[in-house]
Amino acid sequence: MNSLNAVQFDGKKEYVLVSGEKQSYSIGQIIFSILDTDWEPLISDANKTSAMIMNFKGSVQMVKRMEAPLESPYYLAAAFNSRLNSALSSAPVLYYLFSSQAPAFFIRKYPSDDASKIFISFLKEYPSFENTLNTCKSMPDEPLSFMSVQYVISAAKAIKRIQQFKTDIESILNGTLDTDSPNSSIPLTERYHTLPHELRRRYERSDAAVSVKCSLDSDSLFVGYYSEDICSLAFLEFEYMYVNGISVRKCESCGRYFLPFSSLSRYCERIADDKRQKSCKDIAAIDKYNDKLSRNSAKKLYQQRSNAYQMRCSRSPSAFPRTEYELWREMAKKYIKALENGEITEEQFDTAIQIPGR
Ligand SMILES: [Zn+2]
Repeated sequence: MNSLNAVQFDGKKEYVLVSGEKQSYSIGQIIFSILDTDWEPLISDANKTSAMIMNFKGSVQMVKRMEAPLESPYYLAAAFNSRLNSALSSAPVLYYLFSSQAPAFFIRKYPSDDASKIFISFLKEYPSFENTLNTCKSMPDEPLSFMSVQYVISAAKAIKRIQQFKTDIESILNGTLDTDSPNSSIPLTERYHTLPHELRRRYERSDAAVSVKCSLDSDSLFVGYYSEDICSLAFLEFEYMYVNGISVRKCESCGRYFLPFSSLSRYCERIADDKRQKSCKDIAAIDKYNDKLSRNSAKKLYQQRSNAYQMRCSRSPSAFPRTEYELWREMAKKYIKALENGEITEEQFDTAIQIPGR
């Protein structure tokens, strides 16, 4: 279990260790995911859940308690855990670092405690519970109930801290790594110290929560930063980017921070149109295409080529059989569609609809 919450930075990549496997992301993913997540509903969910389960009454046998699952602290905690997981499912790095690690946190905290194993089993089995219950029917449930309360309260605390971090890191990026920072006249390495002292103070001890370790969970050695505190890891990610001068920019379409591929990149690759699965970048490319080159000019190019091709067919049918022209025409029509959908560039279109030579 020493593989928890471990990250590694290398160039513009970062790696998160998940069950002994390295998951690779582009640098900044922890911070961007924290910025992209709406934490408010999760905080109120955690508060509501802890209020509900704090008042569990006495210790009964588990089988008795589970006669009314919706009044059972551990069932409610498992339901909360499942909602947390699905809220973070679109931000995989946070999902790995945060929600999926929470159960493992209990194994480490109470390694020999049966209750922690049962609790984790409840979390995993949710929304069912019969299998877990079968293994511990006649057990008194008080330790498990306490654990459920503890789990939800500690999750609530962690989420509140992340929300504060979200506000802070937005200001920190704005004052430092943002390519359009109001501090852009100051050299990058000096910008951090221009930030308000209050803000810097909150993270100056975050190193203490991080340790450098290596593990040999799978076949390969993973030397990385380990911490139970996501905000400390996220701040470390910022420090890495700061030291290495890795800039960020706000997407001109959605206004969210992203890692620009080059100094020309203006749009992020977040999905902006769910239905068509198009990113801010794709949509900008389509718009650009529509501005610059009307559909008509693509069709005009097609028409010119088509006429030339047909001419060749009638002049030398042996070298240019009509059937090949027809295949070409079908293909060219597909490329017109692809161009209209922004799936290919004008240059690719031009190349794709060349008349095959002889
Ligand atoms: Zn965007």
